[in-house]
Amino acid sequence: MYVEQIGTGPPEVAVVGAIHGDEPSGAHAVEELLAADLDPAGSVTLVLANETALERGVRYVETDLNRAFPPRGTDPTAFEFDDTHEGRLAERLYDLLSDKLTLAIHSTQSHPEPFAVVVEPDTRRLEVCAALPVTAVVDSTEPSEGRMLEAVPTVEVEVGHQGSAAAARNAVELSRAFLAATGAVSAPTTTTEKPLYRLDRPIPKPADREYEVVVDNFEVVPAGEPFASVDGEPWSAETPFVPVLVSAEGYEDMFGYAATRVGSVTAEGVVDYD
Ligand SMILES: [Zn+2]
Repeated sequence: MYVEQIGTGPPEVAVVGAIHGDEPSGAHAVEELLAADLDPAGSVTLVLANETALERGVRYVETDLNRAFPPRGTDPTAFEFDDTHEGRLAERLYDLLSDKLTLAIHSTQSHPEPFAVVVEPDTRRLEVCAALPVTAVVDSTEPSEGRMLEAVPTVEVEVGHQGSAAAARNAVELSRAFLAATGAVSAPTTTTEKPLYRLDRPIPKPADREYEVVVDNFEVVPAGEPFASVDGEPWSAETPFVPVLVSAEGYEDMFGYAATRVGSVTAEGVVDYD
């Protein structure tokens, strides 16, 4: 794990890339910030989380780092981190980031536009979301599965398609907007209202078949309307839903998540429920 603190004083914010080694955009953004000769108001911690996986171009070495943290609702002081490469990284990240507002950079196989993901968001994280160049905010308080954003105060961003040049550009833009929004670096910010979605449930995927997804994420799928095909057969849900992080091959056992539009995050960083 590579960690560098720039500026002076106690670090209040952090930017983390390479939580998944096959998502190079976050590492690119961290490297750009390291090379940018920033002069932060306080100090900023920059992290390349899983350098080994990044070098190998794989999601993880032994276990998914973004499932190795204390799950939401559990006592983190009683949690035993895995004795694996990623378990040890999770423990170091937990110790390093628990007292900092962190931007965690990810990319997807599902959606080209950047969006933010938060768990039990407080005012400060909602204010950051309002100031980021994202098209949507997703409240992912469920499911509880040991992701980093359940254990440390995090705004996660999905910056675009894994490995794309657009995702790399978005990652740099989002990390600079994050530093401006938190006041770590003095720069103008633009706050706008964003649609807020709540993740409801995983959409299961049968094992060992051929898959295709035929809908766009963040667009409502009516009940009974095919959203995918499995071995060429249409695949639908009994209730309407908004697909989020839905792709053919992004996850082993699910297509992604079913979500509901619940309101908006206003320009002031307040939730305005429908
Ligand atoms: Zn990721």
